[in-house]
Amino acid sequence: MLISGTIQNSHFNFNMKINLRKFRANVLLYKRILRRFLSKLENNPPKGLDKMALLVSKDVWKDIDCLSCANCCKTMSPTFTVKDIKRISAHLGMRPLEFRDKYLYLEKKDNDWMNKQQPCQFLDLKSNMCSIYEVRPADCAGFPHLNKKKMADYIHVHKQNVSYCPATFKMVEKMKVLLDGVV
Ligand code: SF4
Ligand code: SF4
Repeated sequence: MLISGTIQNSHFNFNMKINLRKFRANVLLYKRILRRFLSKLENNPPKGLDKMALLVSKDVWKDIDCLSCANCCKTMSPTFTVKDIKRISAHLGMRPLEFRDKYLYLEKKDNDWMNKQQPCQFLDLKSNMCSIYEVRPADCAGFPHLNKKKMADYIHVHKQNVSYCPATFKMVEKMKVLLDGVV
């Protein structure tokens, strides 16, 4: 209900450019409500969920300008697969080992190679552009995984990303409004 009010009164309208300060304030206010909603979707997915998610995600991207945001590259780390490391290190004229030593650490719990540094060393902070865009990690290329065929497989990802990604926040918020009273 609270979230529906937010959308209808346009308190959280990005108007293409993203205001990260406003986004963070909204995360503090609404992340629990959005996560609770996602848990309900996870436990009891309504009929037609995947189709609805695809339509809503299309709609969300009309209002989002990632170049005014780059919050994912500033505050999160992608996971680097062995393929990513080979491709990116070759692009930079480095050996994979040298690349790993310089930029990455092994996150022991999931055995994932992650960035040592945040914001990401490949982000140009003036333009918000990725300096290795054409060879960026597959994880970056797929982020924030909104237009997937099966939304149910990504709900755990969205639960984390509502706190970091305005596009995810907006998509979950819109879906909550549409499914008000259904889940
Ligand atoms: S590699 Fe590029 S897209 Fe990925 S986090 Fe770094 S700057 Fe962002
Ligand atoms: S994917 Fe999300 S966090 Fe990353 S730049 Fe776009 S809106 Fe921002």
